[in-house]
Amino acid sequence: MTKKVGTMADMGEDLGKIYQTVIDRNPGEPEFHQAVHEVVSTLTPVFERHPHYADQRVLERICEPERQIIFRVPWMNDKNEIEINRAFRVEFNSALGPYKGGLRFHPSVYLGIIKFLGFEQIFKNALTGMPIGGGKGGSDFDPKGRSDAEVMRFCQSFMTELYRHMGEYTDVPAGDIGVGGREIGYLFGQYKRITNRYESGVLTGKGLGWGGSLVRTEATGYGTVFFAREMLTKIGQSFDGARVSVSGSGNVAIYAVQKAQELGAKVVAMSDSGGYIVDEAGIDLDLVREIKEVRRGRISEYVDARSSAHYSTEGSLWDVPVTVALPSATQNELHAQHAATLAKNGCVVVAEGANMPCTPEATTILTEAKVAFGPGKAANAGGVATSALEMQQNAARDNWTFEQTERRLEEIMVDIHEACATTAEDYGDPGNYVLGANIAGFIDVADAMIAHGVI
Ligand code: GLU
Repeated sequence: MTKKVGTMADMGEDLGKIYQTVIDRNPGEPEFHQAVHEVVSTLTPVFERHPHYADQRVLERICEPERQIIFRVPWMNDKNEIEINRAFRVEFNSALGPYKGGLRFHPSVYLGIIKFLGFEQIFKNALTGMPIGGGKGGSDFDPKGRSDAEVMRFCQSFMTELYRHMGEYTDVPAGDIGVGGREIGYLFGQYKRITNRYESGVLTGKGLGWGGSLVRTEATGYGTVFFAREMLTKIGQSFDGARVSVSGSGNVAIYAVQKAQELGAKVVAMSDSGGYIVDEAGIDLDLVREIKEVRRGRISEYVDARSSAHYSTEGSLWDVPVTVALPSATQNELHAQHAATLAKNGCVVVAEGANMPCTPEATTILTEAKVAFGPGKAANAGGVATSALEMQQNAARDNWTFEQTERRLEEIMVDIHEACATTAEDYGDPGNYVLGANIAGFIDVADAMIAHGVI
């Protein structure tokens, strides 16, 4: 993980001061600084065109979370020992709707990670065009190697504190790394028990039999591929016959591979935290799903069943020559050297399935090499967009078909791509999706905040 944060060279003096204040007021949180830097460094043209944003101090307000909750989660493991974790919910911005964003359970979680994710979520959620504000939460609890009973007791203790801050009109958590259908089930059960309310819209990513939406599981991966497809179309290319690599092998990666393959791509590499596999015959996704979703095993097991594949812990998945790269594992996984190798090997599109997987240096190298780069807050917005569709179905006490829901997801991704592309053109930097996404998201949030007064 890089500790380097951006410089102020690419901002005007006023925006540079705002960014410096964020660093000073939030010490020891490099991922949060990095996320803020990425946004602030693209906003100079907006402030030049609309000086009232500066008068209203709207950027300073956006950088300060509306509310931050930090709490203790005590629970009993299977040996009847007491364990104690730390948990967070950062309710960042509610200008466009209730706080919305996932929960991450991973040992690397601390306040800075949740703030970076919550900050990204504000703009991502705005880009979906759905009525959702931005928030994020999680805990340093590591579900790996824990029994179902331990995960359940942890989730119950976590919710015993968090429930008082939630509500379908207040704050609507969902999953993220380490939080899937099983955890959402335990969290929902405890919320229902404590509140005595069957409030379906209070959590998303629910099971299909009790208020969940079809396509929610697939949505982040599918959405990333829809976004990348639009990027390819823009440069006169397509997924058909393209070589693709997808890092990770969790929920986002698996469904990104599935959709890319459906569109005719040959996916040749995937990974997990231990190493990566390369399969020149094309990834056998059923096998990956059996290993990851059923056995909860390691990606290295893939090569036991596939002679066309090899597993490596040396070098990087990004050394494999591809036309499209979809980093879908975790933050800061794709570094400068990886970006240079991808560009040298002829990669034309990189779209982020994970949140902030490319380091700032990697993004700069890709952009300078004219590789189209889709930032996570646009490219992976399909997950949270489908969460908003789940809330919509819950509010109407309705269930949509798979086709209808997927069609809405696809429309939303096409619209986000269009918004990013036209905003980038409007601000004089065609093809700069980072600038387009940041400016389009920022304007929606800023305008709503100004309309609401100084609150
Ligand atoms: N954790 C996902 C994200 O990063 C989804 C959040 C949600 O559905 O609320 O956008």
